[in-house]
Amino acid sequence: MKITANNPNRKSWLEVADNSDFPIQNIPFGVFITKDDIITIGTRIGDFAIDLGALHQLGYFKDIPLTDDIFLQDSLNDFIADGRKTWRLVRNKIADLFDVTANGLRDQADHKDKVIFRMEDVEMQLPVTVGDYTDFYASKEHATNVGTLFRDPENALLPNWLHIPIGYHGRSSSIIPSGTPIRRPYGQSRPAEGSNTPTFGPSRLLDFELEMAFITTDSNHLGERIPIEEAEEYIFGMVLFNDWSARDIQGWEYQPLGPFLGKNFASTISPWIVTLDALEPFRTDNPEQVNEPLPYLKVDGQKSYDIKLQVGIQPEGKEETVVANSNFKYMYWTMVQQLAHHTVNGCNVRSGDMMGSGTISGPTKDSYGSMLELSWRGQNPIPMNDGSERKFINDNDTVIMRAHCDNDKVRIGFGDCTGKVLPAIEFKK
Ligand code: MN
Repeated sequence: MKITANNPNRKSWLEVADNSDFPIQNIPFGVFITKDDIITIGTRIGDFAIDLGALHQLGYFKDIPLTDDIFLQDSLNDFIADGRKTWRLVRNKIADLFDVTANGLRDQADHKDKVIFRMEDVEMQLPVTVGDYTDFYASKEHATNVGTLFRDPENALLPNWLHIPIGYHGRSSSIIPSGTPIRRPYGQSRPAEGSNTPTFGPSRLLDFELEMAFITTDSNHLGERIPIEEAEEYIFGMVLFNDWSARDIQGWEYQPLGPFLGKNFASTISPWIVTLDALEPFRTDNPEQVNEPLPYLKVDGQKSYDIKLQVGIQPEGKEETVVANSNFKYMYWTMVQQLAHHTVNGCNVRSGDMMGSGTISGPTKDSYGSMLELSWRGQNPIPMNDGSERKFINDNDTVIMRAHCDNDKVRIGFGDCTGKVLPAIEFKK
């Protein structure tokens, strides 16, 4: 089925600023609460939130086979489970309804009142109920940098890394939508020089991880696998993702089993899921792989995406400083390889599962995706526009991540993924 929604020549009758992340070619999916306290599934064009539940009730999707309440929900899980054909039909239909050449909705003032809201009048929620969340470790530059800093510069990349997309199972309960503040976490860290007792208290090395994540649909039954050629069918879309990390807690706890409390205290995602369909024009060559991957991981065709990424830090009441510019295309392991690998043992993937890319670090020092790497574990503090400097993230700093694709015709973006760090709660022990 053709993705007619992507036509770069389309314009909407809704006003869209030139540099908007959300032109009519984007049509992402999210969940929001209106001023009247109604929760609904929606999309966004420019700075307008569009209530898909109301549109459906008014009969605008009548030629698409959808259950009556598919959009009157507090998560996209059921809609995503309907599969790629439905996603395409709905995106194409929305594009037609809001196209500048369309009559119908645009001429129905009473319908527009029920369907269209200003973004400042709605409150974004998590787009999906994430059942399972997996985080990969798929940037070669990041894995090399972290291996150098945490373990051994001579053998920074462990021998398995070039053969398998390394990952771990994260925790979904602490995934939060952009704008939700986070608390500086407490934890144990390595004993000070000459001591046998670990230190304990608020993390002193709080960090961000610049990542993207993909959201899956129901894919395989337990015991079956997703062949790599089909993997794309099961990816609904992507969000921007800040995998907050406490480096001191992580450094003490991570051996032998891997990340735990240094990671699971908060994970921030952008609230609009940009579909893989919308990203279609931005496919790019896959990174060259050092070893020939095993057959189940062998990729055919362009499975990487050219998505420009940026991270800024804004101290309270001060100007923001951009600390990194990276790109999703630097990922060594592509999403389809990750999904094929994840299910090769028969592990079943469900609608609304979230797979983090791992920190996306580029080849240059200003393209690293964490403060650990940018400041080289604090050795090279980053100068800030307000005259201060940062090795890691301070209390009351807001970390702002942005992602967008563009070509000479269209810009597709993700909106911001932000989170402010609040001081640790005071505890007696
Ligand atoms: Mn991570």
